[in-house]
Amino acid sequence: VLLKILGGGDEIGAQCFFLKPDNKTNVVIDCGIRLKNNSLPDLNWLDDKKVDFLFITHGHLDHAGAAPVFASRHPETKIRMTYETAIIAKILLADTLKVARKQDRPSLYSKSQFDDFMNRVEVAEFGEWSKISESTEVCCWPAGHIRGASSILVKRRLGYNREKRLMVTGDLSFTDTPTVQGAKPLPKEFSWTNTLITEATNGMLALPDRRSEEQRLIDRVKQVQARNGHVLIPVFAVGRAQDVALTLAQAGIKLWMGGLAQKVLKSQAYDWDWFHPNIKLFERLTGDPVNLLADSRQPQVIVTTSGMMEAGKSKLFAHRWAGDRKNAIFIPGWQAEETLGRAMLNVRSGDWIEFPGLTPDRQQVHAEVEAFHLSAHADGPQLAEWIYSVLPYHVIVAHSEERGYKGLFRELKARGFRNNVRRAKNGKQFTFRY
Ligand SMILES: [Zn+2]
Ligand SMILES: [Zn+2]
Repeated sequence: VLLKILGGGDEIGAQCFFLKPDNKTNVVIDCGIRLKNNSLPDLNWLDDKKVDFLFITHGHLDHAGAAPVFASRHPETKIRMTYETAIIAKILLADTLKVARKQDRPSLYSKSQFDDFMNRVEVAEFGEWSKISESTEVCCWPAGHIRGASSILVKRRLGYNREKRLMVTGDLSFTDTPTVQGAKPLPKEFSWTNTLITEATNGMLALPDRRSEEQRLIDRVKQVQARNGHVLIPVFAVGRAQDVALTLAQAGIKLWMGGLAQKVLKSQAYDWDWFHPNIKLFERLTGDPVNLLADSRQPQVIVTTSGMMEAGKSKLFAHRWAGDRKNAIFIPGWQAEETLGRAMLNVRSGDWIEFPGLTPDRQQVHAEVEAFHLSAHADGPQLAEWIYSVLPYHVIVAHSEERGYKGLFRELKARGFRNNVRRAKNGKQFTFRY
């Protein structure tokens, strides 16, 4: 087996792994972009190779954002993912095109490349094994995280009664949320995996219990409403947006949802009775939601993109509401450095914050700002417990910054895990003898 890391090794973004499970078969797993600058994984390395299959673990752009580019360069490749991953990828990839057009800058792929990619998608059912060569089978396995997200299981037959197993986790979570159940226990034979390639986004953290964190958010929102203040909750479009909205709606809190998050919510509402009456959508409003809601006498709760308040309606509501001490900005997700969201988290009441592009271009913050941990990734102790139970001979840690890797490494060693644990690095190649 050969594994080559083309992106997403020692970083969170541009995930792309090349895998050769047997001599005849070339597989690529994920093809994402770096969200900070839209850059690609090392697709050039694949140029002289025939790739038989591309599997996409889930719809987030750090896993699927470069897939149309890959597809246009590899017309020979079969493309597989779950149905819900295809729906989410379609919404996010189309939005990327739209944003590039609006900002009048070139996009990574054209509309026709995007259409070609979507047309070539073959739907993979969760838990169903499919043969990709004489000796090798692949299966998508529920990974929690967001709707449709899967781990990729690979098994290769080596003569009578002998089998080798490899697994790529994709993004992984063991905790149930309102929109998705935690990762399903692996099929029995995979409780002995030879090679595990795992994410470790939160490897350095021990997260608080999700239920109590959800309850804390509900309580805090109700407190702000009781003092007649508005609440802004900036969210990422897929996963956290719907989870946060449903958590609040089910607790009896009426809220407005905006941005791309509404589109994703509607796409997931087809077989869903959780399309909750307490969730109202911006698109139902006739007129600009900021003008209509920001000065409302009624206290409003707004759940909208972008997640780090760099753009979109969340930035505009933050600009309007930050100055009033009755209001609150509750931040449920990770904030990258040098974003408005990160600046907001570090603010102390009375500090000034820059709002580039808006008038006035700075505001004095008096609103309450608080972080909540509603992560869609397993933390260090959860990952380590799980890896210990799967007992892989090789562990390759990807999809993490240095501290994520180190955190997971520490947790594993603390549990007496003695097998190989290595860090994936972009450009690095691993070979495993079966
Ligand atoms: Zn993800
Ligand atoms: Zn990811």
